[in-house]
Amino acid sequence: MTTYKICLLPGDGIGPEIIAEGVKVLDAIGQRFDIEFEYTEELIGGIAIDETGCALPEATLKTAKDSDAVLLAAVGGYKWDTTDPTKPRPEQGLLGIRKELGLYTNLRPVQIFDALSGASTLKPEIIDGVDLMIVRELTGGLYFGARERFYDEAGAGMNGAIGQRAYDTLEYREYEIERIARQAFEAARKRRGRVHSVDKANVLETSRLWREIVHRVHDADYPDIELEDILVDNCAMQLINRPADFDVLVTENMFGDILSDEAAQISGSLGMLASASLGDGTALYEPSHGSAPDIAGQGIANPLAQILSVEMMLRYSFDMQDAADSIRSAIIRVLDEGWRTGDIADASTPKDRIVGTERMGNLIVANL
Ligand code: NAD
Repeated sequence: MTTYKICLLPGDGIGPEIIAEGVKVLDAIGQRFDIEFEYTEELIGGIAIDETGCALPEATLKTAKDSDAVLLAAVGGYKWDTTDPTKPRPEQGLLGIRKELGLYTNLRPVQIFDALSGASTLKPEIIDGVDLMIVRELTGGLYFGARERFYDEAGAGMNGAIGQRAYDTLEYREYEIERIARQAFEAARKRRGRVHSVDKANVLETSRLWREIVHRVHDADYPDIELEDILVDNCAMQLINRPADFDVLVTENMFGDILSDEAAQISGSLGMLASASLGDGTALYEPSHGSAPDIAGQGIANPLAQILSVEMMLRYSFDMQDAADSIRSAIIRVLDEGWRTGDIADASTPKDRIVGTERMGNLIVANL
């Protein structure tokens, strides 16, 4: 029997509640496909700060590196919110693990489940047929450049002659753009063969380099893929104007962060979107949403994004396409039968079809 080692990182807020449902689904898949999943749970984020003083303890990193895949829920919460740069923050756990595992690609698919098409704030004719994938560069760009905050005369504000100044830098190396471009073109080959490369080449030098390299990779190795450049501000508009026209979008770290949250809203629920972070070693799978501290501990969080991240794990880390398809079918069936968690219910949902986190997980397992 094949055994896969999975590092579980529940994190904060609703994290422990939703990851339990992801594990339930993995166990059910294991039984059906004769695979053993061996779990090791570790700390990350706020809970790791409380217990060890650091958002990404060494032990967590070691287990993650020794595992075949990492399943993460979410990190963060009011308790650890701070603007003091000297205090540890939960997101350092996330940024740190991405960097340490070399996870330079983030895949965020956005698809519309027919049963939920009414949940979107966009008109049905606009979202009809939406099936896109954002390929976000994850270990470079603005989130990883040099940054500083300091006092000087030029920064003088209302408090006197000396004031604070801060800067962040956006930097890309050729190889970083080349490898993310390849990931995007490879993804497009398995999809509808179309890539939009998103940049701000009319202003930023990094974007001009980005554009040049993306085209070089395309012309050399992927001439069969349709490639179009699009400025990030225009892309933000077109995503809500004609989202069904997009197949694969590839972009810089911060642009990708913002655009993928915008794209998430096309589907109407953040609770339905998963993501995969891939590199050269262990990959990491997580929901696109955060730790939802406003509903933590109530047993009402939607576990489907976490379960969809399990689906992505089976697809990308273990090449178990049938198992991944069976999870997707189970989710479609449960939604078609009318079952909803609160976040995806609407006025037409009968009260007895609104279920909590655990019940939703059980329904998926029963339908596998
Ligand atoms: P959030 O995604 O946690 O929540 C936004 C809204 O969506 C909330 O009303 C929440 O209740 C709801 N929501 C999110 N996931 C849900 C689910 N599965 N089921 C039902 N409702 C759900 O974003 P936020 O409020 O901006 O951030 C809360 C915390 O999460 C912050 O500390 C933030 O830093 C952190 N965060 C973490 C990640 C991550 O771990 N990858 C991502 C984004 C935000």
